Amino acid sequence: MKKLSIHLAAKSSPLSSKALELLERYLLQKRDLRIRKVSTRADLTLDVRPGVGKEGFSIQESGGGVRLIGNDERGLIYAVGKYLRDPQWRGTSVPEKPFRTIYFASHFHNVYHDAPVEFIERYVEELALWGCNVLSVWFDMHHYTGMDDPAAKAMVARLRAILLTAQNVGISPMIGGTANEAFASSPKELRSDFSFGNNGYKSDIGAYGVEICPNKPGGLDLILEYRRQMLEAFRGIQVGFFSLWPYDQGGCTCADCAPWGSNGYLRASEAVAKLAKQYFPATKITLSTWYFDKNISGEWEGIDKRFARNKPDWVDYIMADNFGSFPEYPLKHGIPGGLPAVGFPEISMQLMWPWGGWGANPRLNHWQNYWDRVRHLLAGGMAYSEGIYEDINKVIHLQHCWEGDRTSRDIAREYASYEFAPDCANEAVRLMEDLESSQDHSISQDAVISVLQNGGWEVCRNSLPVIYNQHNVKNPQVAMQMARKIDERLTPGLRTAWRWRILWLRAALDEELFKSKGRPTARSDAYFAELRRIYHADKAEWVVSAPGTRDLNRLFKDWKAPARLPNVDRGPQYSPFLETWKLSKLMPKTVAGAPAVALTDPLEWKPLSVLKGAPGFVNVHMFFPQEDGIAYLATRVRVKKAGVWNLHVGHDGGIRAFVDGRDVLTVPERINPAPVFRSKAKVRLEKGDHDLVIALDTDGGNGWGFCCFFESLAKTGRPEFPVPVPQAGKIARR
Ligand SMILES: [Zn+2]
Repeated sequence: MKKLSIHLAAKSSPLSSKALELLERYLLQKRDLRIRKVSTRADLTLDVRPGVGKEGFSIQESGGGVRLIGNDERGLIYAVGKYLRDPQWRGTSVPEKPFRTIYFASHFHNVYHDAPVEFIERYVEELALWGCNVLSVWFDMHHYTGMDDPAAKAMVARLRAILLTAQNVGISPMIGGTANEAFASSPKELRSDFSFGNNGYKSDIGAYGVEICPNKPGGLDLILEYRRQMLEAFRGIQVGFFSLWPYDQGGCTCADCAPWGSNGYLRASEAVAKLAKQYFPATKITLSTWYFDKNISGEWEGIDKRFARNKPDWVDYIMADNFGSFPEYPLKHGIPGGLPAVGFPEISMQLMWPWGGWGANPRLNHWQNYWDRVRHLLAGGMAYSEGIYEDINKVIHLQHCWEGDRTSRDIAREYASYEFAPDCANEAVRLMEDLESSQDHSISQDAVISVLQNGGWEVCRNSLPVIYNQHNVKNPQVAMQMARKIDERLTPGLRTAWRWRILWLRAALDEELFKSKGRPTARSDAYFAELRRIYHADKAEWVVSAPGTRDLNRLFKDWKAPARLPNVDRGPQYSPFLETWKLSKLMPKTVAGAPAVALTDPLEWKPLSVLKGAPGFVNVHMFFPQEDGIAYLATRVRVKKAGVWNLHVGHDGGIRAFVDGRDVLTVPERINPAPVFRSKAKVRLEKGDHDLVIALDTDGGNGWGFCCFFESLAKTGRPEFPVPVPQAGKIARR
């Protein structure tokens, strides 16, 4: 094995030693190089010399060796990162934006919550090498009854370990919370108003329901007391930033607090900010505007006016962002108070449900567009992270903040060159772009529930509905071919490293589930199992799970399907819903002229019953999530005494109904959602069994199904109805 001699010329300190430690660790891991420490001339010299600019560095040739010179100790860490990724690079580099932050959401048993803390600590150090200089966590009070709660103590210990690791690699710890946050045990009489429809609130503010109103007598005191207890638990950490949040969760809709964002929120935030500065005098305050104007209008305008009149001395940064795209108000009117602003890009959740469930979610083009729009307005940003599957998105965010002119493609190339192999970098970027273009993944929860309620995967193996929806996957073999070609060229160490595996698994799952038309296979289960191991997701909640069938069993065993019909009282003249049917394969589309079919026709009939929790609604959406065609549903009813009834069908997609092969009802238009009372036909039925068939237009995935029942037309006596014939439509159990 080759060796490099290294000389630490900088003053020995914890941070310069950390720079050396990281260089040694990753030269070995990524380049198979060992180091030898020497005290003079060396292949590599690490030094610190102020001059190029805060947190910057230069890398130069010098006397036959290479010098990595940090402007300061953080700069030396960043120089090591650059050298590791690109040993040939020479020059000077200084960060454009001072605020380069990642927020680890540590909940739902995601990777930050459940992985061995050593894994998270290494990950923090690896983010430092990409220029991260602030790491944020949230101790989410509502999970606990108080700081003495054993679960609260465990979370404090974990967050402290993560923040200390950050601190030890030159990253400023950041903590914070919602402005009126509270423990689960908060007194009911001091809690916020969470109602809406009053005081200008149009919609639910999405609070946990334990938050405190700062305008009730004693409310603000309790907010500060809770916060004091929380801050006490983080003593000894060099908290560089404290962040305050209005909503999601948090807030109060009472008349004294509304509109929260420009009123009650500011009252609570100022008091909490001052308390945080007592504990951590050097801390800077970021004031978030998340969800401003979402539930009530006038918040942006209100804070703008207030800060224009009176620039607050307790706010250092305004945090501004939104789901999907940046808010319009600051783009048009600038930042309230002329304060520096930071973004809050959401890199985790969009277009993949569960988040990260199919592996990596690279979004090179998306983040380039975002950056082009907001770069001029921001002093940096804090990326919201739910896991490690969006690692490349974190790196794009950090490096955009470092050097705004760099394209996300160029950043991704450097990433791939370092994490995979230099000669695969261009191909890996194309792979990431291809995976971005095909991303829009979700799981049909009704379909999972249907399988579990009908005996499980093995029992249903011949009639599985579509579980996995990959709406944009069209040619998955293109990505998979690229992934295979790259895979062949990687060293064994890097081929099995998680950063490569999450990309490879994404391509492989897309291909496998495209072939299986969204049904689980032994192979897809093996791929999901590998993701589960990578994410440490054995206990993960649904939103952050790796959704193989084993995980779906664990997650969905107690779920009920949500109701699909409005709750309408139908009165005694109506029969119960007909709930057991058989479903045909999808037939070519023509509702108005759909021909009659019979259960004896070879249409691959399979049992379909209404889901528990969703009474009445016969739902085919899980079988035909996007398809356009005619689904036939058949059942059989028995009549004891001949009579006349109204046959009711409450449908969304167009239908044609047949009784014993005779069409009785044709209504081709679609209405979403399905009303219970929509279409009816008077039918005369003789004594005996009758076949009822409904042709449903699935309308490209917009026709989901129907409810079906009879109405008695008898004027007197107890109403009698045709009743379902057992077995005819019942789910077969093997
Ligand atoms: Zn209030």
